[in-house]
Amino acid sequence: MPQRTDEITSTDPATGEEIGRLAVTSPEEVADAVTRGREAFQSWRKTTFTERKRLVMAAREVILSEMDEIALLISRESGKPVAEALSMEIAPVLDLMQHFARNAERLLKPRRIGIGLYALMGRSSKMVYHPLGVVGIIPAWNYPFSIPLGEAVMALMAGNTVVIKPSELTPFIGLKIGEIFAKAGFPVDAVQVVCGAGDTGAALVEAAPDKIMFTGSVATGKRIAVAAAKNLTSTVLELGGKDPMIVFEDANLDLAAGAAVWGAFCNAGQSCSSVERLYVHESVAKELTAKIVERTKLLKVGGSGDDVSLGAMSSERQVAIVEDHVAQFIADGARIETGGVRESDTLFFGPTVISGANNEMRAMQEETFGPTLPIATFKTEEEAIRLANDSEFGLTASVWTKDYAKGGRVAEQIEAGSVCVNEVLYTHGIGQTPWGGFKNSGRGRTHGTEGLMELVQPQHIHVNHLALLPDAWWMPYSSTAVETFRGFATKFASGSLFKTAMLMPQLFRRIFELRGKK
Ligand code: NDP
Repeated sequence: MPQRTDEITSTDPATGEEIGRLAVTSPEEVADAVTRGREAFQSWRKTTFTERKRLVMAAREVILSEMDEIALLISRESGKPVAEALSMEIAPVLDLMQHFARNAERLLKPRRIGIGLYALMGRSSKMVYHPLGVVGIIPAWNYPFSIPLGEAVMALMAGNTVVIKPSELTPFIGLKIGEIFAKAGFPVDAVQVVCGAGDTGAALVEAAPDKIMFTGSVATGKRIAVAAAKNLTSTVLELGGKDPMIVFEDANLDLAAGAAVWGAFCNAGQSCSSVERLYVHESVAKELTAKIVERTKLLKVGGSGDDVSLGAMSSERQVAIVEDHVAQFIADGARIETGGVRESDTLFFGPTVISGANNEMRAMQEETFGPTLPIATFKTEEEAIRLANDSEFGLTASVWTKDYAKGGRVAEQIEAGSVCVNEVLYTHGIGQTPWGGFKNSGRGRTHGTEGLMELVQPQHIHVNHLALLPDAWWMPYSSTAVETFRGFATKFASGSLFKTAMLMPQLFRRIFELRGKK
């Protein structure tokens, strides 16, 4: 059937079969969804944390009761094996849900702020956190279930309503998320899903929600930042990566090899935090490469059964990038140790290990987002850090060594939002920890307390508990005022109680001067 412009077709990347067609939500309907979300917000914001928790826990139960069906849908629409739908999408998001359901109230509790010597004047300050309103969520296709669902749960627990625009490649998973919340008993319009391609995402930004949570490429992230600026809509941008793995000569090479294979090839390499560059100390490069190649050759690509490790890539466009990068590596003199080809007429690309790579090669700089693992070598710790940081991206990184002091020291010098020592890639699955990038890998954070704080409006409440006297800095000014302000600068602003005590006579002179003027 020919494609109509007012509908999108979802296909199974493994077989090319059509999964179904959906009407595109028009820009007007998207704007209406934001308006309805804002109306629903007026009552949702007043619900107690206990009620929000009850509903999120009910949504967990819906997922648990339909787990296999959901895993199959994720697998069919995104191409990943059912094993990864369960391990990398469903299990982590269930954990995130229970964490924020149980802890959002505590994390968003009003918090007293230390105000130093101002407290001596009978003042106090506290922070309270208000929901923002409608949160627009625009995720990519690579984790189409866990990313938008997790962000929606955090936004809802903070008292917001949400509008989700799933990727045009995975719209049925987006609709499933809406269905889960509806079945759990969330109020109408607390969670809405709009469907379409990039234009629909642009319409959501244009509709001026109160926050945009975006996951996708750097290019689209920049477009969204520009469009959001028109309404001063604040954005969290989770963008690309070219994540380095550094393996020192003292590392457990068997573990490092296993981690490199999973880190590079899980989700067919289509994770923003995939290992895309491996730097190994030259003295163990041959041994590590052999171990990686041996493990890679054991992986089953495509087909059926629980033992499938690599599924189909998401789209022809993604495969074309991988093919271009592999060709580029070969042209630049790197060596394909295994893989390097796609199965003809399919979106399956063999896991590819490349040795002899270096940072001068274009494919070591651009995000590949596919199952390639280029290996380069280094001689010293300083060189390893320099090579790892030689990138426009900075999402995650890993350091492998038995020397934990060295691991920590190197980790802190790497320009990336999350750095693991003797671990790789998986911390997006720990909803308790923040996620986000340095440099072109993004702005802001999702997950963790920092991510929850992105979804609230912080308000400072300041109280003068001794509202009996005028403040010394009020008008009208005078010579006594100027002398007092000099004292503020030299004594009070030092933070020293002793110096501030010496200012007291001058301060009282000034306050009595002001009282006399009333
Ligand atoms: P895109 O930037 O192409 O798309 C991301 C989302 O934005 C999709 O829903 C897309 O819709 C939508 N979109 C496209 N154009 C616009 C627009 N002008 N205005 C609003 N929305 C728009 O990224 P990909 O889907 O190709 O995802 C891959 C990228 O995502 C990689 O770079 C990867 O590293 C990054 N990523 C980052 C993560 C992180 O946490 N940092 C996690 C996962 C992925 P549609 O798909 O329908 O065109």
